[in-house]
Amino acid sequence: MNQMMTTTVVMGGLAPQPTMSHDEALVEAHRCLMCWDAPCTRACPTTIDVPGFIKRIANDDLLGSARTILESNILGASCARVCPTEVLCAGACVLNDLHERPIDIGRLQAYATDDVVFGDIELSVESVQSGASVGVVGAGPAGLSCGAELAKLGHAVVLYDARRQPGGLNTYGVANYKMDMATSLREVEFVQGLGVEIRTSTAVGTDVSVGQLSADHDALFLGVGLGSVPPLGLPGEDLGGVGDALDFIADVRAGKVDLVGERVAVIGGGNTAIDAVSQASRLGAERVYLVYRRDRDEMKAYPHDIERALSSGVEFIHWSAPIRIEGEGSVSALVCERTEYSSDGDLVSVPDSEYRIPVTMVLRATGQEKRVGFLDQFDGVETDHGGRVVVDDAFRTGNPGIWAGGDCVNGGKEVVNAVAHGKAAAMSIDAALRAAAGK
Ligand SMILES: Cc1cc2nc3c(=O)[nH]c(=O)nc-3n(C[C@H](O)[C@H](O)[C@H](O)COP(=O)(O)OP(=O)(O)OC[C@H]3O[C@@H](n4cnc5c(N)ncnc54)[C@H](O)[C@@H]3O)c2cc1C
Repeated sequence: MNQMMTTTVVMGGLAPQPTMSHDEALVEAHRCLMCWDAPCTRACPTTIDVPGFIKRIANDDLLGSARTILESNILGASCARVCPTEVLCAGACVLNDLHERPIDIGRLQAYATDDVVFGDIELSVESVQSGASVGVVGAGPAGLSCGAELAKLGHAVVLYDARRQPGGLNTYGVANYKMDMATSLREVEFVQGLGVEIRTSTAVGTDVSVGQLSADHDALFLGVGLGSVPPLGLPGEDLGGVGDALDFIADVRAGKVDLVGERVAVIGGGNTAIDAVSQASRLGAERVYLVYRRDRDEMKAYPHDIERALSSGVEFIHWSAPIRIEGEGSVSALVCERTEYSSDGDLVSVPDSEYRIPVTMVLRATGQEKRVGFLDQFDGVETDHGGRVVVDDAFRTGNPGIWAGGDCVNGGKEVVNAVAHGKAAAMSIDAALRAAAGK
């Protein structure tokens, strides 16, 4: 049972283009002030030692730098690409206070991790096999992070995912211009190299029962994320060309979408809406509209992503709510009415303000539904009034053998938050398994 195991991960070939040249990275690394209290580290949900990894880049110790990052965040390579660094680590950089450009932490992090995660530099991990087995539902960032940490701690780990490919929204949801599907899948291979088994096309509750899962494993982690964007209940929503913005992004990532000559309207004001309009405009759509019922400063999407969408030609239509979709067989127009705040502060429609936007495609990006029905199958796992899984500080649910993390717990945040949850849950699962085994 207590067998010592050394896992060596070697990834060859197919490395993506380096995100920074060696000289560029050295110059940028030497700009870092190496602050002792590192506000950048405190701003990172996975508390990566940012000055530490940058110092190692400056000293030309790339493996040491990658190790520093990956010890805190096993998905450090994808976080380097998808994290909203402007509001996290780089947003906290003290150079901002000195009216200087903050350190480009995201690109330095990609530079440091690329050769280990996608290239041929080896990362050795030594672990003592515990003999315990953990089942992880969902191979998205939360599940991958939890699984990788548990594997490093010597536990056997099986990840189950309903989709054909692992990686969750890193593979299917995040916009292509931040990270493509191939990069996400390469990072998953790196995690598998740590000893994590992944069973794809295996939906828990359908292909494998909850009872079977509980019988097969000593502990469970739920990293099931959120569901699809539900219909808005608008007349005409069943017309061809109307759909879920998440399915659209997944199709774009699979190379299945041609938008030349299309006029696309995306309904919503969050990150999904912004990613969908940005993708649509980059794919050559004739006109791309973002339709949102409130003002720009009330949008949940990040300001830098909003600016990027605006600069790529997306037309923002504020103070507008859709009331029906018109067309014969397929959509020809989105009909909206104007909105405003009443004197009581409620959002109301403006009388007689109806107008039509001629479009050939309408995408809903109005919020993903929670997986409450699925979660109800697990005894003792409770959800709050918003459909989020209730967990304690160690990410343990009301069932002492089940932990949860990621979007299904926080209702939808960032990849780095899901990674942080997975890591914290893994530490708690490890402690519980060792306590149960009297170790
Ligand atoms: C359009 C969009 C763009 C985004 N862009 C960014 C970004 O740029 N940067 C950023 O940091 N974050 C971004 N996010 C948020 C980020 O993607 C999520 O916070 C993160 O993926 C959450 O990870 P997770 O593992 O909790 O869930 P997910 O990534 O959703 O993974 C959950 C996994 O569980 C699987 N699953 C569900 N039910 C079952 C079942 N019954 N059996 C087996 N498997 C199951 C699913 O197939 C999925 O693979 C974006 C989100 C969206 C929707």
